[in-house]
Amino acid sequence: MNRIPAITALMLTFALVFVLIGNFLGEPLISLAESDKIIYLTFDDGPSDRVTPKILDTLKEENVPATFFIVGEQAVNRKQLVKREYDEGHTVAVHSFSHRYGEIYSSAKALMDDITKCNDLICSITGEYSHIYRFPGGSFNLGRELIQAVTESGLYYVDWNASFRDSEIPRPTPRSLYKAALSTVSNPRRVVMLAHDSTDKSATAEALAEVIRHFKEKGYSFARF
Ligand SMILES: [Zn+2]
Repeated sequence: MNRIPAITALMLTFALVFVLIGNFLGEPLISLAESDKIIYLTFDDGPSDRVTPKILDTLKEENVPATFFIVGEQAVNRKQLVKREYDEGHTVAVHSFSHRYGEIYSSAKALMDDITKCNDLICSITGEYSHIYRFPGGSFNLGRELIQAVTESGLYYVDWNASFRDSEIPRPTPRSLYKAALSTVSNPRRVVMLAHDSTDKSATAEALAEVIRHFKEKGYSFARF
């Protein structure tokens, strides 16, 4: 008897789902229900021969997506790793070409030149420019002029609210990074996790599977920007 209203309600639900998924750049891949818990795994400063393949293997085994904020100077001789990131369904995003703070933050023009160089490289490998950017060191202490230059260029920038702390902990072990990843979560509903896939970050690759399993057990969905 109530069949038609039930079907209508179902169709409306699907329509809403599509609208929410479609809102990509405003609020990337936000959950269908506000109560869902989402984690974005993000890896900065790669690719590296030693660490990036291990991270990609783990992401494949665990069947979760991630976002790689790449450094052009690292990628230029490791294009096949960037291609692999892209081919395996991850987001390849802009971090920097040189990653030298003194140069890139000297002016808005210098910053945009660095970003363009990195993004041109990304496009030459994947066939697409990235709309996603992460400031080296984060946007936290940067002047308005630099941030404005980035947003006005149409890029969506992403900081983080949790971290493996793999750039800070001296002589990190997989265990210490695992603990840091869990204890630094400040917004449990929308976690943007910072980690690194540069060449000295073996412990990060070793900690990753356990971190992923933890968030799976806690009911998180994994998303990429
Ligand atoms: Zn960096």
